[in-house]
Amino acid sequence: MRKDVNKLISFFKISKKAVFLCGLSLMFCILLIKFLDFSAYEVHLNGNCIAYVKDINSVKEVYENVTQDSFKNGEVSGNNEIQYKFVLADKSALSDEKLIKANILNSINLKNKGIKLITNNKDIALLKDSNQVDELIKNIKNYYINKNHIDTSKIVSVKTKDNIYYEEVYMDKAEFDDINKICKYIIDEDEKSKKPLINVEITYREKVKETIPAETNIIMSDELYKGETKLKQEGKNGEKEILREIKINNSDVVENKKLGEATICAAKNKIIIKGSKENNNSLAFLYMPTRGAITCQYGSRWGGEIHHGIDIAGNIGDPIKAAAEGVVNKIGWDNVYGNFVKIDHGKGMETLYGHCSKIIVKEGEKINKNQTIGNVGNTGRSTGPHLHFEVRINGIAQNPMSYIK
Ligand SMILES: [Zn+2]
Repeated sequence: MRKDVNKLISFFKISKKAVFLCGLSLMFCILLIKFLDFSAYEVHLNGNCIAYVKDINSVKEVYENVTQDSFKNGEVSGNNEIQYKFVLADKSALSDEKLIKANILNSINLKNKGIKLITNNKDIALLKDSNQVDELIKNIKNYYINKNHIDTSKIVSVKTKDNIYYEEVYMDKAEFDDINKICKYIIDEDEKSKKPLINVEITYREKVKETIPAETNIIMSDELYKGETKLKQEGKNGEKEILREIKINNSDVVENKKLGEATICAAKNKIIIKGSKENNNSLAFLYMPTRGAITCQYGSRWGGEIHHGIDIAGNIGDPIKAAAEGVVNKIGWDNVYGNFVKIDHGKGMETLYGHCSKIIVKEGEKINKNQTIGNVGNTGRSTGPHLHFEVRINGIAQNPMSYIK
């Protein structure tokens, strides 16, 4: 009986230990379950906390979706670093998918697809797309069209003469160049250096009016004495239109060629008849007293009167020479003749020189043939500088041309 009691006592002793151990295990299990319930991951993207999650894969999934969406928008992910940290967190602190996505978008480094513009092996700009390249080139072309004041309706072609191309690149949005700034940079470079980044060649055509000068034709005629001239036809300038093609490189004219011309109005030539008839008159001994065309003949009507001499055109100051030797018999002033000189050549012959600007001989002075006696002027009744020359025999006016050799 004693033995049985002892057995019973030791059984209970063992059972007490087991119960204790069982209880301890149970406690541990409860704690472990609780602990697992609070365990979570804190996820960082590029140093920013973006999520608290139980399962890391859920963040990875959202991240993949974000990068795939951005790829559709022409973006790619840049350098991105994801880090995880084991933490304890209450269920209420866990992030939902919407929040994770928003946080990823805020922290992710995305690079945009763009293009690098290169001209003549030089990097010029980082632009969004080829449309911007077209716009840039168009702006530069327009700048030079306006700068050179070219009427756009006259333009034949506008082209760039450079090796312009572009490469696709990925970059941050901030790296994109502003198109207006690049346009200004290219133009400024052209102004200050002789090596433009872009050469714009503008070809245009324009019509220019030019004068066709009238020529003078001389017709010889034996109806007039030698030395006599007569205006047959007054000349008139004509007009023509010339088509030119001009090439400009940025601001410099590099070519200007004539493509053709058309007469708008032909010139009318001046026709002068020049006498060729020999003067065999034995009295023809006088010198022509000054050089110049005869603008008014002897015998023509002149202000309602018969012209008693000839008018020889000249410039003020041209020398007047004595037609023959003789003696100055009169120097004077007359409303019609202005300053005049009369020379007595003897045998009743007298010559008169009118409208003089200056007279350099004195009354009574003996004069040689061809001696300068004064200068052509515009004095008296005269409409322009000329010499009025008269020959009188016994006071009667004669045609001087009959006496001039
Ligand atoms: Zn006259």
